[in-house]
Amino acid sequence: MIDPAVAYTEQLRRRADALATLCVHAGEAPGADGALDPPIVMSSAFAFESAEQAARAFRGEEDAWIYGRWGNPTVAALESKLAALEGAEAACATASGMAAIAGAVLATCEAGDHVVAPRSMYAESARLFRERLPKLGIRTTFVDGDASAYAEAMTPRTRLLYVETPSNPTLGVVDIGAIAGLARGAPERPAVLVDGTFATPFAQAPLAHGADLVVHSMTKGIGGHGDVIGGVVAGSAALVATVRDTVIKGFGGVLSPLSAWLVARGLRTFAIRQERACATAAALAVHLESHPRVARVHHPSLGSHPGHALAARQMFAYGALLSFELAAGPGGDDVARGREVLESLRVATHAVSLGDVRTLVVHPASTTHSTMPAETRRLAGVADGLLRVSCGLEGTADLVADFDRALG
Ligand SMILES: *Cc1c(COP(=O)(O)O)cnc(C)c1O
Repeated sequence: MIDPAVAYTEQLRRRADALATLCVHAGEAPGADGALDPPIVMSSAFAFESAEQAARAFRGEEDAWIYGRWGNPTVAALESKLAALEGAEAACATASGMAAIAGAVLATCEAGDHVVAPRSMYAESARLFRERLPKLGIRTTFVDGDASAYAEAMTPRTRLLYVETPSNPTLGVVDIGAIAGLARGAPERPAVLVDGTFATPFAQAPLAHGADLVVHSMTKGIGGHGDVIGGVVAGSAALVATVRDTVIKGFGGVLSPLSAWLVARGLRTFAIRQERACATAAALAVHLESHPRVARVHHPSLGSHPGHALAARQMFAYGALLSFELAAGPGGDDVARGREVLESLRVATHAVSLGDVRTLVVHPASTTHSTMPAETRRLAGVADGLLRVSCGLEGTADLVADFDRALG
């Protein structure tokens, strides 16, 4: 879907154009008082019109706001916008990305079930599958990202094929369509769940490739301003209803109306923010790839990236994240070199998270991936001298100069 014959910046502009109207208007209507900006409805409970109406609402015969954990108008407006951007029948906003992931897994799996998940993924998701789900009797086989490895790992008890693409932190690209094909071909018809946080709905539409559910941490590119924690699960109305019942009603992972309002505000500028951040990431990737102090750059826009061709077929854009490995220094201590470069950056900020207006840089080996056993980390492709960059909205030339200076 990324046409090599058309300039990348032009394709980013077209994608932004395709989403921009939805970003501004989807899920929004002026309130009763004519306010253009939807109100933040901070109310735990909602008054019934009559005893009869309350009874109807409880019997499910009438849509009504009853209690804030079961539904809230501000959160529901955001969910409509998210469903529209994702091309989904329905979306359920959650308290965080992890609430979305845990909720989606627990809505599709029970004790005795089996999951296939990638070796390389967001560290807390890895802990969910490695440490927490086994206590509930849900077992996971970890594989490299290609579909043949998923196929080999599947058993008659497999209920879920979990995918993260592009993956953290080396931007590995997984073929969603191929994995969805495996699920369709299996008699048990496992669900396919894609964590699309790194791509955002700007760069990728997993449901269009056959995934059953897509999750995002809205903390990242969707919220986009680094001021809110939230998550979303999108998919068919029936599956999302099950997820909502599990994660929101049952486990209480509800998003606050104030957070929902902040995310909706962020989404109105989502398309143009992503257009800019993706363009900067591609430019920075090209620049770093020719830098003498850089051994290797991971960004799907680069011809050298193993996922380049697949990304071009599967994605609308190559995303706003990249990572790079420092060339070995004289002392050979890549961890120390990584820290040194981080501390020399002036425009980019040393912080976890991603998808912020600010460019954020982390050193996974000493932070986000430090809880992983060293061998697991190596298998996940996290070199000691690897830095991950989430491009923000600063001037591209300022960022390039910042990295040049820090790399010395
Ligand atoms: C941040 C992140 C999560 C978790 O989201 P939270 O909002 O922090 O709970 C999950 N997956 C990926 C890929 C992430 O980047």
